[in-house]
Amino acid sequence: MKQKRFILPETEIPKQWYNIQADMKNKPMPPIHPGTKQPLKAEDLFPIFCEECARQELNQTDAWIDIPEEVREKYAYYRSTPLVRAYGLEEALGTPAHIYFKNESVNPLGSHKINSALPQAYYAKKEGVTNLTTETGAGQWGAALAYAAKVFGIESAVYQVKISYEQKPYRRSVMQVFGSQVTPSPSMSTRAGKDILTRDPNHQGSLGTAISEAVELAQMTPNCKYTLGSVLSHVSLHQTVIGLEAEKQMAMAGEYPDIVIACFGGGSNFSGIAFPFMRHTILEGRQTRYIAAEPKSCPKLTKGKFMYDFGDEAGYTPLLPMYSLGHDFKPALIHAGGLRYHGAGVIVSQLLKDGLMEAVDIAQQDSFSAGVLFARAEGIIPAPESCHAIAATVNEALKCKETGEEKVILFNLSGHGLMDMSAYDQFLAGALQNT
Ligand SMILES: *Cc1c(COP(=O)(O)O)cnc(C)c1O
Repeated sequence: MKQKRFILPETEIPKQWYNIQADMKNKPMPPIHPGTKQPLKAEDLFPIFCEECARQELNQTDAWIDIPEEVREKYAYYRSTPLVRAYGLEEALGTPAHIYFKNESVNPLGSHKINSALPQAYYAKKEGVTNLTTETGAGQWGAALAYAAKVFGIESAVYQVKISYEQKPYRRSVMQVFGSQVTPSPSMSTRAGKDILTRDPNHQGSLGTAISEAVELAQMTPNCKYTLGSVLSHVSLHQTVIGLEAEKQMAMAGEYPDIVIACFGGGSNFSGIAFPFMRHTILEGRQTRYIAAEPKSCPKLTKGKFMYDFGDEAGYTPLLPMYSLGHDFKPALIHAGGLRYHGAGVIVSQLLKDGLMEAVDIAQQDSFSAGVLFARAEGIIPAPESCHAIAATVNEALKCKETGEEKVILFNLSGHGLMDMSAYDQFLAGALQNT
């Protein structure tokens, strides 16, 4: 029998995260304080973020950062995750390419977000923080943070974009099972929320408004810090456990990827799978292509401009040097909620500018077609976000079919779609817009 899944023992869970900033020839430009226009220092972030996360955010010198043993113990609840050879998908496509995927959907919450939620909650606990706040759109990050906070004995409060709070009730229930206080945003519990509701009582909420509320709560509550599940460099750092494991597992399979692919919202799962391989490209000149797959309706990498822009809609955050569509860009209401963000992380933005990676855009219907093809071939229903990575993989595998090349393609399956079945219902009924 041909080996299908490659599994590492718990002892092989990485002991360090990989910080690509240390190896980059052109470092990301610094975030700028919007008031003073000065480059941001870690201390400037301490009032809002945990200190260790703030230091990791701006660390451009240490290539390897120790993973605390307490975090590794919690990683062991679901890591290592399997690396899977997608024989079913290869057969369905009739491609000579060898397709592998790293399955980050197999954990209590169903997406890769937990890889950063656990260390963020751990550092909070260690620094004497008692409460964490965050915002969530579709709910994957909120669910991961709710669980991680519970694991380390911290209270959590999540502002969920109101329209998702109403449309995705089960993700809200998941957060509540883990003891999180979930508030639809905009709410009357903060000044920012009250202002918005006074102007527009029917406001449906957005990530921008939810960020403003979560940050305000963190500032007003003693011993309370704010957390973010994507975009920032320390989040990408934590996600490198994905690629570090995958590298060892590809070696078990006797292969090395020619192409590495992930979907792209703010960049955390892409960074997680790609950076450990990219270090061989930067340091040893190894030829690998890295492809970020973004939605056609929110094309910051393929159509955005490199600029200093705010991370949130309201303009409260530091100015970040990144590819952006503008912080007031309003993406269409596609089902891949995790990809509806106007900007990209600063590391990935620099890498794209330097030509170390590529980006493609995928239309919504094409993403679901690829997702259904994958589900029927491999037995896993992917998250709408992950469908974008699958669509990009299918495109590359079909090129191999034309040329006869046996390329090795690795993609990240960032999450499962079992809480997104209403989106699949619409796709199967032919009722999806191909935006
Ligand atoms: C949040 C999310 C994404 C997008 O975020 P990145 O930071 O770009 O990885 C992708 N897939 C899933 C399943 C998510 O929950």
